Amino acid sequence: MTDLAQFARDTGVKYFLINFTDLRGVQRSKLVPAPAIGMVQENGAGFAGFATYLDMSPADPDMFAMPDADTVIQLPWNPDVAWVASDLIMDGKPVSQAPRWVLKDTLEAASERGFRMMAGIEAEYHLIDPSGEDISDPRDVDAKPCYDQSAVMRRYEVVSEICDAMISLGWGPYQNDHEDANGQFEMNWDYADALVTADRHAFFKFMVKSIAEKHGLRATFMPKPFPHLTGNGCHSHVSIWETDGDKNLFADDTNPLGLSRTALAFVGGLLEHAEAICALTNPTVNSYKRINAPVTASGATWSPSSVTWTGNNRTHMIRVPDPGRFEFRLPDGSANPYLLQAALLAAGLDGVDRELDPGEPLLHVNMYTEGHTVDARKLPLYLIDAIRAFDADSALKSKLGDDFSASYVKMKMAEWNDYSRHLTDWERQQTLDC
Ligand code: ADP
Ligand code: MG
Ligand code: MG
Ligand code: MG
Ligand code: MG
Repeated sequence: MTDLAQFARDTGVKYFLINFTDLRGVQRSKLVPAPAIGMVQENGAGFAGFATYLDMSPADPDMFAMPDADTVIQLPWNPDVAWVASDLIMDGKPVSQAPRWVLKDTLEAASERGFRMMAGIEAEYHLIDPSGEDISDPRDVDAKPCYDQSAVMRRYEVVSEICDAMISLGWGPYQNDHEDANGQFEMNWDYADALVTADRHAFFKFMVKSIAEKHGLRATFMPKPFPHLTGNGCHSHVSIWETDGDKNLFADDTNPLGLSRTALAFVGGLLEHAEAICALTNPTVNSYKRINAPVTASGATWSPSSVTWTGNNRTHMIRVPDPGRFEFRLPDGSANPYLLQAALLAAGLDGVDRELDPGEPLLHVNMYTEGHTVDARKLPLYLIDAIRAFDADSALKSKLGDDFSASYVKMKMAEWNDYSRHLTDWERQQTLDC
């Protein structure tokens, strides 16, 4: 295990961000000076849980964030500081509702079945004005801006700085592009173990926001920041490998799509639990403006509306772009990086345990134009529908841990109730003269 005090001596790092992600996906940290890091690596950094989005009371004892020292990253944009993902303990025991534990526990359950989850993520984002009102590039107005060479080059300073950082960190970035919405970008790096990808995903969001700010801009992963433009998805690619060995258990070249029975049952689990999973993969009020959305300025939303699967066809919830893996197109930029992977795995494992059959893939159906011809469940229309579906799904809740699930539902219901108390412009316009 990395000795963080030695790491500080070797790198010249002066401070460590002892980081954890709370239930809402907010990253929390203590900024610990290097001379104190030996003590903090041993005993943890103290936090009052109630002060964050965790289901706790002000009377609860302190929690301690114990650094997972091998995750340490010297910030490429600020080499004085390093970031390290941590695990929360209280009274000497894991805080079972903490998202990184939820993922680790689910990965442990997978490992008991001989499964190792590999995950890749496509965390789309918009570069916007510091005010948050508009995209940052006034010349980026084309109706079909995807892959626009000039528009990506006008943001070269930001995009290349982020990509250079990923190269130096050894993540294996392989392409960057302007995405389908004005002001929107995507950067791709290699898949890895799900926990590694979750930590990188959390760090990526921090890095993109930080580097954008450094350049006088602002980055947002909000699912639908602009109603007429394509939203920020967070497609998740999944394969399951042997825990001991390097065999991809999802691959089977005798199947037309190259998926094994294990992979098909895993897909069956995702289809079975889709509405409930939305509470974790699409966890905000705004998430439901991205899925089920009317067509955008570019001609397609690129997000799903129904619970369906297919081959290499981007109009469905699950797509199989290559043999031996699938892409889950449902998640969005507001998903908690840890809970996203945990939700996928828990639902997939339930499918494998119950040998669920996903049915025939809808290979050639364009869901955007022919969706009405297909007998498929619609995705939830509102956050409240997803929360209720999750709360009613005891199989998924128990796979994710009952403590966590109860805390999560409580927090999300409070969020929904808070939202419901707001009056919108639309309802005033529609109802003032009733
Ligand atoms: P697309 O835009 O076609 O959906 P991208 O190239 O943007 O695809 O993203 C693909 C993601 O899938 C990358 O993160 C890649 O590393 C990941 N990936 C590729 N193969 C696998 C696999 N076997 N298991 C998990 N993730 C994978
Ligand atoms: Mg204090
Ligand atoms: Mg992509
Ligand atoms: Mg994309
Ligand atoms: Mg994709």
